[in-house]
Amino acid sequence: MGLLTIGAFAKASRLSPKALRLYDELGLLTPARVDPVTGYRRYAPEQLDRARLVAWLRRLGMPLARIRCVCALDAGAAAREIRAFWAEVEADTAARRDLATFLIDHLSWKDPAMTETTSPLGIRYAALSDAGLVRASNQDTAYAGTRLLAVADGYGSGGGPASAAAVDALKRLETDGIPAGNLLNVLEDAVEQAQRAVRGVTGAGSGAGADEAGTTLTAMLWTGSRLALVHIGDSRVYLLRDGELFQITHDHTMVQAMVDEGRLSPEEAASHPQRSLLLRALGQGAPDLRLHDARRGDRYLLCSDGLSAVVPSEEIRRVLAATGEPEPAVRELVDLANASGGPDNVSCVVADVMETQG
Ligand code: MN
Repeated sequence: MGLLTIGAFAKASRLSPKALRLYDELGLLTPARVDPVTGYRRYAPEQLDRARLVAWLRRLGMPLARIRCVCALDAGAAAREIRAFWAEVEADTAARRDLATFLIDHLSWKDPAMTETTSPLGIRYAALSDAGLVRASNQDTAYAGTRLLAVADGYGSGGGPASAAAVDALKRLETDGIPAGNLLNVLEDAVEQAQRAVRGVTGAGSGAGADEAGTTLTAMLWTGSRLALVHIGDSRVYLLRDGELFQITHDHTMVQAMVDEGRLSPEEAASHPQRSLLLRALGQGAPDLRLHDARRGDRYLLCSDGLSAVVPSEEIRRVLAATGEPEPAVRELVDLANASGGPDNVSCVVADVMETQG
């Protein structure tokens, strides 16, 4: 079979001649022959598969440079590249979905003083951090106050000062007034200050050394009717509501990304040797921001991976459901981590949403 005219090739590939000319100009699909006199493009029938692949990849939203790469690969490698591309798209979409949810909540916010008819809500809380049984020092920082709840897990040499600096920088949220419509900006500013504070104590940014210090940061700000969440890294927040336990944060770890991509089961992730490898940390990547409506009786747990890596979530649920005050709850959770060998620093913050008297 001889070469096809652009019209015949367009028909056979179900692409327009205009698209084919564009693909040629972009170097995605070069005609088998271009007439030197007339400039007419001619295509070989074997080019049909590639033309269709280019069209599908365009429909997928893959950038042109990446399509060029995929087309140069054999089928197996091309499949892997498309899978990797799609995992990135989904991660990006998930991050933007969270931001959209936050903005919707944020913009629908009503001043509770104007609408509240029942008793006002408040929180009672406790925080506890422990070095564990193996580590020489405690690089975690845990804090709980009338408005701020925070857990930070420092790593690298200088990880302790890093986690302390991050939480310290957020403490001004305890005293600063928070204008009702301004929560997002207040949080972003606080995170920026925390990043600066961490850079100040670690000297980070001078290059990614193997032992560069840094910290995770997972914090909640009580607004009087809601809890605003800032989260980056692999510390976690759980919510106990009506006896059920929900993990409301997403770990920014390599193994979690592999679970999301379907390349690892949650069970494999839990015992993976690289399970603590972070994809994001404070100052490296954007934190997740979210608002949670507070409900009377809700119990929140913020914890570092020193708890969640060794104590099964069913055990965590049992302790949170069975203990009364926050203080014995954090004590029992830290004890459980240490009873499991205490391989890491462990931090817990428990906060209960309650009706306030008077
Ligand atoms: Mn840790």
